[in-house]
Amino acid sequence: MFKMTPTIMRNFVGKRATRRYPAVVRPPFENARGEIYNDIQVCTFCGVCAVKCPSQCIAVDKKLATWSCDPSACVYCGVCAESCPAGSLQQKRDYRRAVREKEMIFLKGEIKKEVAAS
Ligand code: SF4
Ligand code: SF4
Repeated sequence: MFKMTPTIMRNFVGKRATRRYPAVVRPPFENARGEIYNDIQVCTFCGVCAVKCPSQCIAVDKKLATWSCDPSACVYCGVCAESCPAGSLQQKRDYRRAVREKEMIFLKGEIKKEVAAS
């Protein structure tokens, strides 16, 4: 009991360890793995991110030039962004805001013309 007393006193007089999220948001840590972002103008719809994603939350359709993601299934591992050969997929430092309903990210780009070999 005497061993715990300093900790108990510190907790009584110290600042709260919790925040009133989402009203109060803590700034992300350095190198934090946050929300993913795809620059659809740069994306080549190769599908590498969809294959690599351990949560299987990315879907790519090369013929329709669409890229979609279910952010509620994302575990923010960053594998997709690290393996994107075009560099269009990035991972922000900011975390995704709390939402009341499930939202899908759906992006439509343009079908890229194959560059003819010379
Ligand atoms: S890996 Fe990159 S370029 Fe390929 S489909 Fe995914 S986001 Fe697009
Ligand atoms: S960060 Fe990880 S879980 Fe989220 S979409 Fe990318 S590969 Fe999938």
